[in-house]
Amino acid sequence: MENNKGKKAAYFTLGCKLNFAETSSIGQELKAAGIRTVRQGEIADVCVINTCSVTEVADQKCRQAIHRLVRNHPGALVVVTGCYAQLNPEQVGHIDGVHLVLGTEQKGHIAEYVLDYLERMPEERCVLPLLSEVVRTADIRTFVPSCSCGDRTRYFLKVQDGCDYYCTYCTIPKARGRSRNGSIASLVEQARGVAARGGHEIVITGVNIGDFGKSTGERFIDLLGALDAVEGIDRYRISSIEPDLLTDDVITFCARSRAFMPHFHIPLQCGSDEVLRLMHRHYDTALFEEKITRIRSLMPDAFIGVDVIVGSRGETEELFRQSLSFMQRIPVSQYHVFSYSERPGTMALKIPHVVRTEEKHARSQKVIALSERLLTSFYERFVGQVRPVLIEHSRKAGCVHGFTDNYIRVEIPCGQTMPDNVILPVRLGNWNATHDALMGTVEQCGCKHGDDE
Ligand code: SF4
Repeated sequence: MENNKGKKAAYFTLGCKLNFAETSSIGQELKAAGIRTVRQGEIADVCVINTCSVTEVADQKCRQAIHRLVRNHPGALVVVTGCYAQLNPEQVGHIDGVHLVLGTEQKGHIAEYVLDYLERMPEERCVLPLLSEVVRTADIRTFVPSCSCGDRTRYFLKVQDGCDYYCTYCTIPKARGRSRNGSIASLVEQARGVAARGGHEIVITGVNIGDFGKSTGERFIDLLGALDAVEGIDRYRISSIEPDLLTDDVITFCARSRAFMPHFHIPLQCGSDEVLRLMHRHYDTALFEEKITRIRSLMPDAFIGVDVIVGSRGETEELFRQSLSFMQRIPVSQYHVFSYSERPGTMALKIPHVVRTEEKHARSQKVIALSERLLTSFYERFVGQVRPVLIEHSRKAGCVHGFTDNYIRVEIPCGQTMPDNVILPVRLGNWNATHDALMGTVEQCGCKHGDDE
């Protein structure tokens, strides 16, 4: 550790919340070994890039990020990990300036690799040869516990990794391996750790969270119950859950629980049963609608965000029309729209009907317009109401931001004294100037000052 004193590391994360949680854990381990995070303008001794490979664009962004970090931190030890590194280790290894390519199985040991490299590295410049360690997908077994900490008001706790579903358009199971998870006892321990550090909100993350329990013989609903009982954590959100795994018990539990927020994120992917079948999804539109209806009946104010892939192979004009009409009918709050991206090695490439790029764009625009209307009317339903808001650090001078229990973004004008990381009752007003939040004013009584109690 002494040898590393004064050394600095730069981190760059692409992709999902899981990756952010994992990078944060890598940062904590290096910090424990004496390597602090680089400050703005400083040259790092180590660069860690945690990549994503969900689309062709994501791959491209990863390559750009690697080039940028190599350029900005001359002489640094450059480590690339994550899904792009797992799926394309040779491509990554050929990028000038990359020293370590570590796959998914090695992610939990990055600090060890870095420390070993630094020990062998001559002073000032990393000139050691490339080391690439990436195992086959079938050999990815380890569950690496991760929890992002300190860098946000909200903490991201990884509870599950990998996926046993094989949706025809998706490469994630190849990059992340089979479904596996941490034990309930270990995750509760991590949640207690967050509470001890003053955290109030945890987002539970994973690749296919509803599949939790496969490797420990436990049940997702029991995990939720155990987390709900952790003192000091006032809010949990489930980052995303497959509709077929969002059981009625889980919905009922969230409606009655102490700390699980009325907030759901559910991938629909397409509102046409024919396309869902081509995608090898595990549900049809009837099941999806049933889940939304159940959430709405128990939690009428819940925010429901829904992922949709537009223009996938097999989505003919007629099937898109059916899909859009389904999306217009179900009472959700927002659609997250993704344009279908061809991924090498996926089964979707065998589906003959291909949607032209311009047509994909036109379809995306239609769903985005629908989503904007839905989000506007969802927000406006709550104008005038008082809701609890977790106050976050502000990026704008003269105001703070936060989210209500049901995930409405709020902007609160304030002086110097407004504390962050506290939950306050806030009356919601009209839209802010940039139309991305409602203006709010803090109500004086009944506050829950997390830090002050
Ligand atoms: S559920 Fe389907 S889309 Fe999601 S990670 Fe698994 S294979 Fe990919």
